[in-house]
Amino acid sequence: MKLIKTYIYNNGKYNATYGLYKCKCGKEFGTLVSRVKSGGALSCGCLRLKRVIEAKSTHKLSKNKDLKSTYACWIAMKQRCSNKNNQRYQLYGGRGISVCKEWLSFETFLNDMGKRPSKDLSLNRINNDLGYFKDNCRWDSRQAQESNKKPAKGKSSQYKGVMYSKQKNKFHAKIQVNGKQIHLLFSDKEKECAAAYNKAALKYFGKDAYINEISLSL
Ligand SMILES: [Zn+2]
Repeated sequence: MKLIKTYIYNNGKYNATYGLYKCKCGKEFGTLVSRVKSGGALSCGCLRLKRVIEAKSTHKLSKNKDLKSTYACWIAMKQRCSNKNNQRYQLYGGRGISVCKEWLSFETFLNDMGKRPSKDLSLNRINNDLGYFKDNCRWDSRQAQESNKKPAKGKSSQYKGVMYSKQKNKFHAKIQVNGKQIHLLFSDKEKECAAAYNKAALKYFGKDAYINEISLSL
């Protein structure tokens, strides 16, 4: 945006400085210089219009049945990276993993990655230390593993990775990694064991691991 000229306008009470600007889109428009300086005016209005159109189109796309699971992946990705209350935030946003600027628009994300090919495939990063952008992402099937399944019903605890040990009279958290059982914790509190399992599952299996739903305060 370029300032072409300024002029003083007196409304009877005080002087205000107006500017005639040339917007990036080519249109000329006038506004208070102070609005531009404070960041209140970034364009002739075309930018705002663009954002409204984008939001409308995202809304429309998100309602498309065919795109529902792709849209859910996109939302989950943003959540992991930016919502501090997200259960997986520490592994993502918390360690500097972010979503590239372009992908804050669902349309661009969809253009770059295409539709999620099937529910067995999830959005994964090729280099685990880099963020979410086109060249570092692919749909793959890392999540079709035992580690990502829900707990079986009829066990001695409602939580995955937790069993009741009659011998010790306590709950026992453990995790199976590459065929080996790893002991995590004995506790009277079932939730504490569920939390211990969650921590280990994220460590060993990554973001697609099944995580017990527990409130953060135990
Ligand atoms: Zn404009």
